[in-house]
Amino acid sequence: MTRDILITGGGTGIGRALARHFADAGDRVVVTGRRPGPLAAVARETGARAAVCDHTDPVALTALLAELPATLDVLVNNAGGNTDFTDPGPVTGLEGTAAELALCARAFRANLDANLLTAVLTTRAVGDRLAPGGAVIQIGSIAADQGAGSYGAAKAALTTWNLDLAAELGARDITANVVSPGYTGETEFFRDRLSDTRRESLVAATATGRAGTPQDIAAAVGFLASPGARHITGQVLHVNGGAHRTR
Ligand code: NDP
Repeated sequence: MTRDILITGGGTGIGRALARHFADAGDRVVVTGRRPGPLAAVARETGARAAVCDHTDPVALTALLAELPATLDVLVNNAGGNTDFTDPGPVTGLEGTAAELALCARAFRANLDANLLTAVLTTRAVGDRLAPGGAVIQIGSIAADQGAGSYGAAKAALTTWNLDLAAELGARDITANVVSPGYTGETEFFRDRLSDTRRESLVAATATGRAGTPQDIAAAVGFLASPGARHITGQVLHVNGGAHRTR
């Protein structure tokens, strides 16, 4: 059976590997994102259909519906990433000035928008189209378990929201799970935003001695979307090389 798959943030990194994974399995894939360039490249590589959409924007999301098939078998809420590294931390060393509070508010709003709202709004927008036997998979993060400021808090909120989703969708024979990556290299996020020292320390924290690959994450998502995973729902599958244990 050819399945219909929607991958948000499908133009780069993990999303791009997801598009390849499902396209190689013979599924029909739609990839979305805000930048047309990366989406067009993935469409060329995989045969996926590309649709530009900002998943924080309700109007853009309703417009996206016209680009999607009438039913969806798999939704992967992958769009996201740490949008703000300026969040200085909970309280220590802060004076509670308006400027500090404004910085904190900006960091939390940006990361909640990028990592929670994208998934919540997208799932609501396409909810009626999810087919029985289908699967929703959120891309969480190890940051949800380790604490990582507004980014970790947003990913933790996504994981908690997924519990409600799983409870509701179970009656329609649809599963909802989170795949929680650890440090996953070969993505724009880590290539452009992290220092070499930080990258090395993230690898050192793993039991496997390496960064994850986007393909590691795609394989886990593929499993949760497969017939063998029909009795798994409301769960978090950690794909981090054992890193969360060592901190
Ligand atoms: P990338 O930055 O390569 O991918 C993120 C994608 O999300 C981009 O294609 C971006 O496209 C898209 N995106 C972001 N915001 C929006 C939005 N509002 N609307 C539509 N698309 C959006 O990084 P990764 O591949 O690493 O990240 C994928 C997911 O994996 C993220 O949710 C991230 O938090 C998570 N993750 C990654 C880890 C890693 O080590 N790489 C570790 C743990 C979790 P565009 O800018 O064109 O919109």
